[in-house]
Amino acid sequence: KSVDDLARGNQSGTAAEDVADPVHREQQAFGDNPTEVRDTDHYTHEYVGGFVDKWDDLIDWKKRYESEGQFFVDQLKARGVQSVLDVATGTGFHSVRLLEEGFETVSADGSPQMLAQAFSNGLAYGGHILRVVHADWRWLNRDVHGEYDAIICLGNSFTHLFSERDRRKTLAEFYAMLKHDGVLIIDQRNYDSILDDGFSSKHTYYYAGEDVSAEPDYLDDGLARFKYTFPDKSEYFLNMYPLRKNYTRRLMREVGFQRIDTYGDFQETHGDTEPDFFIHIAEKS
Ligand code: SAM
Repeated sequence: KSVDDLARGNQSGTAAEDVADPVHREQQAFGDNPTEVRDTDHYTHEYVGGFVDKWDDLIDWKKRYESEGQFFVDQLKARGVQSVLDVATGTGFHSVRLLEEGFETVSADGSPQMLAQAFSNGLAYGGHILRVVHADWRWLNRDVHGEYDAIICLGNSFTHLFSERDRRKTLAEFYAMLKHDGVLIIDQRNYDSILDDGFSSKHTYYYAGEDVSAEPDYLDDGLARFKYTFPDKSEYFLNMYPLRKNYTRRLMREVGFQRIDTYGDFQETHGDTEPDFFIHIAEKS
């Protein structure tokens, strides 16, 4: 069965035509001035067929399991979490991980290609039927129903929002979908070090050993454009907003979260002392 067949078989309401082959084969499109592309809506043109397939072929899920360890599972269990909404499902790594740990999980994403891949991966890794929902964070309450003990937004996803208005709207939507004592977990790349050390001292990040490299291709206060190079020399790009750590924390606080703990993650570095990622854990009460 193809990924598309699998996606059509689910009950989530993802439109079958959204995951049809022509869309799945779509290439990234940044136009003539790629560094001018600073638009929250553009992520749907970045996570397209070739990039999604390559990413999943190369990022070994077992290695990712090992390097991430029990961190998120422990944080969720310590708070008595049972239901989790994964708002940035991507290809499904965390959704599958949490299902295997016994959490009730709903998997949302704004990219139909990603959801199709996630659904297929759920079946492949343990025969899980993912409950996938096609939803953009800015209108999450419209498309996803219920209240959750936890929301996770992982893999440096929040960075795709390009205006403060979209960030505030998204956080407000997340807040509203949590139970009164719910918890939100957002991770982000350590952009402070990238911005402060400057473009000239840019650092290359490696995934899955040396197989995939990611390096800043362009950087200013409003854009971090990263280039991903694969072993066959193909290149893909992501345009992201460089969130400073304390700015993200402030927005979370201003939206109403009462307590925010930020952790540094030392994985995926090449002997650097600075963490590459920060993980914010925000509690509603
Ligand atoms: N969490 C996954 C992981 O760690 O492998 C995927 C991370 S991927 C970097 C970011 C995901 O966020 C993509 O699947 C993208 O479609 C989704 N995304 C970005 N902006 C979004 C938005 N406004 N609404 C819904 N999903 C969005």
